[in-house]
Amino acid sequence: MKKRLIFVTIGVLVLIGSVHSQRCDTENETFRAIQSEHAYTKGLFELDSLAEAFETWTLESSARGDTIMFIPVVVHVIYRHDVQNISYDQIKSQIDVLNRDFNWAGGDHGKIPEVFRSLGQACRIQFRLADRDPHGNFTHGITRKQTDIEDIGSQAIYHRSSKGGTDPWSQPHYLNIWVCELEGNALGFSILPSNNMSERDGVVMDPNAFGTTGTVRPPYNGGRTLVHEVGHYLGLRHPWGKGDGGGCSTTDHMSDTPKQEKENFGCETFPHFSCGGQTDGDMFMNFMDYANDSCMLLFTKQQVQFMRLVLRRNRAALFHSDGYTGLSKMNERSLRIYPNPANDRLQIEFLHHDQLVNVWSVEGKLMKVLRASASITEFDISNLESGMYFLESEDSHLKLMVQ
Ligand code: ZN
Ligand code: CA
Repeated sequence: MKKRLIFVTIGVLVLIGSVHSQRCDTENETFRAIQSEHAYTKGLFELDSLAEAFETWTLESSARGDTIMFIPVVVHVIYRHDVQNISYDQIKSQIDVLNRDFNWAGGDHGKIPEVFRSLGQACRIQFRLADRDPHGNFTHGITRKQTDIEDIGSQAIYHRSSKGGTDPWSQPHYLNIWVCELEGNALGFSILPSNNMSERDGVVMDPNAFGTTGTVRPPYNGGRTLVHEVGHYLGLRHPWGKGDGGGCSTTDHMSDTPKQEKENFGCETFPHFSCGGQTDGDMFMNFMDYANDSCMLLFTKQQVQFMRLVLRRNRAALFHSDGYTGLSKMNERSLRIYPNPANDRLQIEFLHHDQLVNVWSVEGKLMKVLRASASITEFDISNLESGMYFLESEDSHLKLMVQ
C-alpha cells in the first residue's frame, strides 16, 4: 500500500517499473534514494558515465587484473517473529553461495547454452563474515534485533536503530546486509553504488530468500537472490537496462549481454528471442535476470570486469577495512581444542601463556568463561546444549561444535 502511494507522486514511468518489483526492488529503492539524497544522486550520474565509458572500452586496463579481493560482510538480522531470527547455519549457507558463484564454481555450467557458456567468468571476489566490528572488537559478523515494525525492509528505516532497525557498520568498510521482512513479493534489493554513498548503502534481503536452508522457500532457495543483489551493489544493472521493462531501447552497458526486452521469470527454454537483432536471444540465465535460482547461472566477462572496476573506484575502502583479519589461521598456532566436536569434556591448550577463554553462543550470549593455562586443561562442558559455539581469547577465536 505504501509503495503505491509513493508511485502516485513519482509518476507514470516508475509506475510501470512497479509491475516488475517482484523479486528485485533495486530500481524502485534506488529511485527512492534519488528522491531524498541529493549528493547520492549526483554520484549516481557519475556511475552511469563510468558505465557508458566502459561500454566503449576507454578505461584503464588495471581494473581487469585478477587479484583476489576480500570483502568483509556484516549481516543484520531484524526479526518480527522468532522464526525470522535465522540461524548461523542459514547465514553461512548464503555466504558459501556468494563465494561459489562469484568464483564461477557452481558446478551447473552444463545447463548454460553453449553459445553463452564461454562468456562466463570468475569474479575472484571472496566474501567473509567480519571478525572485527568497527571498534576493533571480536565479532561473528552478525547482529540481531527484534522489531515490531511490519515489512521494515520496505520502509527505508531498516538502517535506523532509533526507528526500530539497525544502524549500519561503517559502509565504506563493510558490506552491510539487512535480513528482514519485505513487502509483497520482493525478495531483496540493493542501493546502486554512487560516488557519494547513500545513507542506505548495502543490501536488504527477505529471510525467505536468504541462504539455502532454514526459512528459505522454493524456487528462491538457492541463495542466488543475494548473488543478483551483490551484482547491483557492485554496479550492475538488469540486462534489459534501466526501469522501462517494456522495450528494447535501454542498455545495461555490457556489450556481451544481448539486448533484451524485459525480465524472464522461471526457467526459460533456449533460445528465447525478445528484441530484433538478437542472434541467440536473451541471456535469461544471467545472474542479473529474474530466473528461478536453479536457472541463474553466470556473470559475463564484461560484468565481472565492471564489478571489479567499481570495487576499485567506488568501494576501495573495503580492501583497507580491518573488518576481516582472518585470525583463525593464527589461532591454530596459539590455541588448540580437543575433541571438536565435543560432548561433555573439552581440553584446551594454549601454546604461549595463560588466557581466559570466553564461550559465546551463536546468538551472541556469553555462556562460560574458562581459565586455561599454557598446558592442557580439561573442562566440563556437559551443561552446554548441542550446537555451535565460538571460543574467544585475547588473540584467538575458534568454532566449537557440541554434540
Ligand atoms: Zn535486480
Ligand atoms: Ca548488453
